[in-house]
Amino acid sequence: MELWQEMLRQSVDSGKDLVERFDFKPELAEKLNSLFHTRINPYYLSLIRHPGDPIWLQCIPDARELEDDGLMEDPLAEDSHSPVPSIVHRYPDRVLFLTTSQCSMYCRFCTRKRKVGDSTKINMKYIQDGIDYIAAHPEVRDIILSGGDPLMLTDFLLERVLKGLREIPHVEIIRLGTKMPCVLPQRITTKLCRMLKKYHPIYVNTHFNHPWECTPEAKRACEMLADAGIPVGNQAVLMKGVNDDPDVMLELVRKLLTMRVRPYYLYQADITRGTNYLRTPVSKGLEIMDKLRGHTSGLAIPAYVIDAPGGGGKIPILPQYVIGRAGKNIILRNYKYEIFTYPDIEENPVDHAPPVEKSFKRKGRGRKSAPKAVPVATEVESIIE
Ligand SMILES: *Cc1c(COP(=O)(O)O)cnc(C)c1O
Ligand code: SF4
Repeated sequence: MELWQEMLRQSVDSGKDLVERFDFKPELAEKLNSLFHTRINPYYLSLIRHPGDPIWLQCIPDARELEDDGLMEDPLAEDSHSPVPSIVHRYPDRVLFLTTSQCSMYCRFCTRKRKVGDSTKINMKYIQDGIDYIAAHPEVRDIILSGGDPLMLTDFLLERVLKGLREIPHVEIIRLGTKMPCVLPQRITTKLCRMLKKYHPIYVNTHFNHPWECTPEAKRACEMLADAGIPVGNQAVLMKGVNDDPDVMLELVRKLLTMRVRPYYLYQADITRGTNYLRTPVSKGLEIMDKLRGHTSGLAIPAYVIDAPGGGGKIPILPQYVIGRAGKNIILRNYKYEIFTYPDIEENPVDHAPPVEKSFKRKGRGRKSAPKAVPVATEVESIIE
């Protein structure tokens, strides 16, 4: 047995553990565990500094998960975009490939709680169906191995999946969505890296949410992946009490760059049932983005996205930098809120505006006509006077 497997076996993972280690009432521990598993391996557990801290909030079950918050089981409507149990096919040219239901730590905010940890829903036995589906769809050129955490598979099983995918000529890139560098960096071994390298181009997107997770162990894991020629990106989730603070986020993204990890996405929390207590207002995300851009390396800046409820995909949202138009001029503000005018080429910007003219559909509510394109504001002229 490898070290990481041994560590997994030592995880806090039962109602009994919760009662003994964290003073949970037995009925509460039972209820929480039946809703979504607990698993906290000794490495991640050691990062907790005090009850309720940013590490604790991510891994220790919370009575508020049981609140009737009116949120959704499957907020991204993944199940309706799932042609076979192991595939979520939402975008034209890429798919999520769910390989295992297991994770080395079960995040309390997980968007896929309805399935993750449940081997009747995500299972190796559906892998061949997934490979067959991808082989039958030549438009699919990018495969994102997800789950669960694909690095919960042994090297041997993971290699079988990679080999199967690489036999499909139209598969261009393979990405692994894995939390291991953050929650169980011991999983990143020389043997694993040597295996992954054979299936390039491979990308890894990992998942750090707080600077305390950027330990020497985690740094080493990320460097090993980078040394194997694997670009490593980070997808963070914005959460109340964890990282809803511009200074915390600034520290996180800077640390990630020193670990050779490039911040990729910052997600607005999905509206997943049982996670309401961790949500933040969108204005908080915008405030954070506003305090990153210009104030630190552009390389450190993730795209802030809302994954559209109902399954529309990721939608980027940005603080307002384009203040408006004044005739030919486009009026902008920079990171210090200074106003600049860029003389555009044409007087009439509507011609080149995005195709908002097409009426667009609101899920389930029929058609709604688009707002008229670009506001040519007289107010703007008053701003710049
Ligand atoms: C996030 C996601 C992807 C990948 O999106 P990128 O923007 O290419 O990183 C693909 N499929 C689904 C269903 C997703 O949720
Ligand atoms: S690692 Fe990913 S899939 Fe697993 S519990 Fe966390 S968010 Fe969910």
